[in-house]
Amino acid sequence: MNHILDLLRPDLRDFAGYASARRANLSGSVWLNANESPLPNPADAGQTLHRYPDPQPAALRARMAEVYQVSPEQLMITRGSDEGIDLLVRAFCRAGLDAVLVAPPCFGMYAACARVQNAPLVEVPLDESAGVWRLDFSQVFAATERHKVRVVFLCSPANPTGQALSLAQIRALADALQGRALLVIDEAYVEFSSVPSASSLLQAYPGLVVLRTLSKAHALAGARVGAVLADAALIAVLRNLSAPYPVPAPSAALALSALSESALQASSQRCRASCVERRALLGALPHVADVKRVYPSEGNFLLARFHEPQAAFDRLLRAGVVVRDVRAMPQLSDALRISIGTAEENRQLLAALRQEVAA
Ligand SMILES: *Cc1c(COP(=O)(O)O)cnc(C)c1O
Repeated sequence: MNHILDLLRPDLRDFAGYASARRANLSGSVWLNANESPLPNPADAGQTLHRYPDPQPAALRARMAEVYQVSPEQLMITRGSDEGIDLLVRAFCRAGLDAVLVAPPCFGMYAACARVQNAPLVEVPLDESAGVWRLDFSQVFAATERHKVRVVFLCSPANPTGQALSLAQIRALADALQGRALLVIDEAYVEFSSVPSASSLLQAYPGLVVLRTLSKAHALAGARVGAVLADAALIAVLRNLSAPYPVPAPSAALALSALSESALQASSQRCRASCVERRALLGALPHVADVKRVYPSEGNFLLARFHEPQAAFDRLLRAGVVVRDVRAMPQLSDALRISIGTAEENRQLLAALRQEVAA
């Protein structure tokens, strides 16, 4: 048996999933097996949506696999990375027993999915004492030993702190966690980073999972398309746990055209422009009187600490500029996260921040 499947919830090991009409792989010309409408809705421009979609649209799966440099069997298309996070927690954590490990301050969905599954949450806080965000790997191993940790979620580049893990670091972590816990690297922002994707390590580390999404670099947050990249046996298990038709046909069609060569070039162009803007903001923000510190970032956002964070937040809001208030996160009681906008939007952000507080 593949040892990564040994970590699965034992009660799910022989679960074959829901046998949907589309999974039977039948062929015919008169389709009377799924209680669909025989006629399309007049509002449906393409006149095809009266049929259930392919659970994993083959053309999109093949193209995403090509773009992410894995085989189609190593990839599951999901409704954004959020669905991948949820499926992984469900697959590996028995309620009340098996834990999820996170390194706060970090993306909140890992803890939210753990909560829904009633999986204990183990936190190994990032250390910022040297002015950069660092994860102490030995603490991760120790916590994994001490608790029944089944899934370790790390975001690289990290949201909201901005730092990225090197492939050497990911390899070291994957080595140490091998056979004990799944290591999930959430690469929602990897296109904005100089660090390459960890997908090249999947072959060597069956306990490694990489999450990708079209929501950020590909500008398709509203379409809800992402992917889990993992060992083929694990992908097969996750498919059994997922909803029967997780990928809406219009989103799949859109995603496929957004991954054409020309669309990919346009996306990298947008990412490069974002990185140029990020660098400019990183240079400009420290000169704003209220700004205490700005962290370098490998994502399409910057994390900044303020002397008067509430006043800064309010001043921005009055100017119509909405940033993310992250003050409820551990170690970030004075911080705001600022997404990189267009040059004009970033100019408005700086102008609003520089305004004196109204008397
Ligand atoms: C934005 C983001 C995602 C993307 O989630 P989707 O469900 O794909 O939209 C995933 N992980 C992190 C850390 C993010 O910040």
